[in-house]
Amino acid sequence: MTQIKEVISVLENIAPPQYQESYDNSGLLVGDKNADVKGVLVCLDSTEAIVDEAIQLGCNLIIAHHPLIFKGLKKIDPNHWIGRVVIKAIKHDIAIYAIHTNLDNVLRNGVNAKIAEKLGLVNTRILMPSKSVLSFCIKCPLLLKKEVLGAIESIQPLNYRHLEATNGTDSKSIVEISGEIAAHQKGQLNYVLKSFGIKASFNEINDPHPELGAGLIGELELPVPEKNFLTLLKKEFKTTIVRHTELLEKSVLKVAVCGGSGSFLLPVAIRAGADAFVTGDFKYHDFFEADKKILVADIGHFESEQYTIELIIDIVKDNFSTFALHYTQVDTNPVKYF
Ligand SMILES: [Zn+2]
Repeated sequence: MTQIKEVISVLENIAPPQYQESYDNSGLLVGDKNADVKGVLVCLDSTEAIVDEAIQLGCNLIIAHHPLIFKGLKKIDPNHWIGRVVIKAIKHDIAIYAIHTNLDNVLRNGVNAKIAEKLGLVNTRILMPSKSVLSFCIKCPLLLKKEVLGAIESIQPLNYRHLEATNGTDSKSIVEISGEIAAHQKGQLNYVLKSFGIKASFNEINDPHPELGAGLIGELELPVPEKNFLTLLKKEFKTTIVRHTELLEKSVLKVAVCGGSGSFLLPVAIRAGADAFVTGDFKYHDFFEADKKILVADIGHFESEQYTIELIIDIVKDNFSTFALHYTQVDTNPVKYF
């Protein structure tokens, strides 16, 4: 039998949890990682209807893109939908796992690579490479080595290593521990070290990771008129409505994409010389910022990320054959069009 943690490990091999944004809450949110997998249901949002579907299909693991528990949960309240989902999942022994911004932030097999594939983009690269890696160095008393290494491990650094004590093995000996963390883990590392009275020194690693970061940019095989590009978006992303900025009467070749809410990347897409920027969740005032420099196409948050389900299914399918794997039949898009 395959255990839940084995499935998680395959997914996190592609999108390590450390690559998630600081505000995110990806990971196993409900359930026991040591449980055997009976069946897996993949979706974007873990709603009550999704848990019902999992029960019906005999699945005990839900893999979702969006974390069910996001801002924290102070009570499990059946009068709120999140509380109801947690209660129902626990009652039926169903685990809920989310793979969110860590899957957004990887170039290979990530959310944006899938969008690019659907649009036929070539020569794809990360739109805003992440510079958010810090190296750390800790001078740790030999006596505390085991506990401090345990504390470092608990925050899941990108990597770490330690040198043996060079000044003997008595109670005054010091061991040097060094490694790398994502920038947002700095506070966590300081926090776990504080109880030992130890401080780390940090250095920013300047070379941005070429395969890690937000959004993606690439080119179409051939330039197309803007209207044809919008038609392509409607067809590929199965939507009847694309909210867009004014047409610039030029063709589209270079395209930036960001699944979900991408307005924060608009200035980067403009600087990168993209003709069009495809994303979701653009607000009224954000549209002005296109400023005749780029065609912004808001295809909808759900629509932009719908193929993430296919992406997750393919990763799991390629690695396991001992359990049933289901693509949800429930439309969890909370936005309806009339
Ligand atoms: Zn999203």
